[in-house]
Amino acid sequence: MSVKTRFAPSPTGYLHVGGARTALYSWLHARANDGQFVLRIEDTDLERSTPEAVKAIMDGMEWLDLNWDEGPIYQTERFDRYKSVINELVTEDKAYPCFCSRERLDALRETQMQSKQKPRYDGKCRGLTDDERDLGQDHVIRFKNPQQGEVSFSDVVKGDITFSNDELDDLIIARTDGSPTYNFTVVIDDMDMQITQVIRGDDHLNNTPRQINIFNALGAKPPQYGHVPMILGDDGKKLSKRHGAVSVMQYRDDGFLPEAVLNYLVRLGWSHGDQEVFSIEEMKTLFDINNINKAPSAFNTDKLRWLNQQYIKSSSIDAIMPELQWHADNQSVDLTAGPDVSDLIPEFAERAHTLVELVAAIKPYYCDFSEFDAKAAKKHLRPVAKDALELIKSKFEAINNWNNENIQNAVNQTAEELDIGMGKVGMPLRVAATGAGMSPAIDLTLCWVGKERTLSRVAMALEFIERRLQESN
Ligand code: GLU
Repeated sequence: MSVKTRFAPSPTGYLHVGGARTALYSWLHARANDGQFVLRIEDTDLERSTPEAVKAIMDGMEWLDLNWDEGPIYQTERFDRYKSVINELVTEDKAYPCFCSRERLDALRETQMQSKQKPRYDGKCRGLTDDERDLGQDHVIRFKNPQQGEVSFSDVVKGDITFSNDELDDLIIARTDGSPTYNFTVVIDDMDMQITQVIRGDDHLNNTPRQINIFNALGAKPPQYGHVPMILGDDGKKLSKRHGAVSVMQYRDDGFLPEAVLNYLVRLGWSHGDQEVFSIEEMKTLFDINNINKAPSAFNTDKLRWLNQQYIKSSSIDAIMPELQWHADNQSVDLTAGPDVSDLIPEFAERAHTLVELVAAIKPYYCDFSEFDAKAAKKHLRPVAKDALELIKSKFEAINNWNNENIQNAVNQTAEELDIGMGKVGMPLRVAATGAGMSPAIDLTLCWVGKERTLSRVAMALEFIERRLQESN
């Protein structure tokens, strides 16, 4: 049977990094085996599911480029199918109507808790005869879970797992209003869609024996399961908003490249030797579900930042341009209003871990600013810098061909004529021209800033110094 996997999110919020990782593993398993990948929206919880969440999840998947071959399939569009299987199970005496009231179930639970038993349904309605069943009364449908024996399965991640049937009670598969429940719909879908491997978070591990019993009752073969340990925060607790961003799209907003996020997520819980950097193509050929780690992994933002920088540095400009452009637009930076951005990236990628940082760093080359960085200005735009800035300004004005050599000569001559160190010219000039104290070599920097902008910014720096002088008098 050819491989078919699925990602089956419940649309109650954004795409969480944990969800994205299981989606990635399922997707990679399909891609690595020439299989199919299905997107299934588990929206049967009508109160908690929203169209906005469906959109948010699909946006996340699309941004990561986790393309699906089938779907999105919405469970709410399959109610007729679920109902017909429920009827079938009832007819075959594999499921039964249960009339127990909420009050009775609450009292039962209370007694069981008091005698330190695991709360479970006691099977009161399991043996009712047809005559004893008044289907006009409110009722749910329960699945007849086997009362003896065990459920065993070999989990791809966790190894052999066995549950005793006496730990499982008769699960509700249809609510009073007839709507099917999660553990049931998952089975019908995985069966109908011929899913071969279910890769999901290990918070679902306890559902698996129940699901396998339903598969068996239907005479269908359960898929292979792989339960992936959860992602932890740096404090060892389950990753949550308290630890920082958990929504995939937040990582986009924060300046991460989708390839870097995928690379980070694939390594977070899976390994191939000690290789850290994987292209998508490599992941697709090397990914093996048998190598998913058993132990939970901790999310490490610094490592993700490092990886993101590797991608910024090594990707071609064409590859990062769409994302870069998006961030430039976000920060109102017009990349056509300055030097060719592909010249700047190699220089600035050394310092930037994210595209947000990168765009902020190149911004002065494209946009005018009205204020200098306060710290840099305090340190370098001091009265002693006035002479140097005035002299260099006049030298710059005289340059016809604004190139590295002419710029550098002007800087050198200024330092010589005033008999001061190069830094005493370069640093005030750097702060004047870029607004901040860090930039590539001064000739390169000014070349990119351009003659006109350099001159007006030096003039602005001189005004700043003038104001400082007046204030101190
Ligand atoms: N809908 C479930 C969830 O979002 C996943 C079910 C599954 O993967 O089997 O947690």
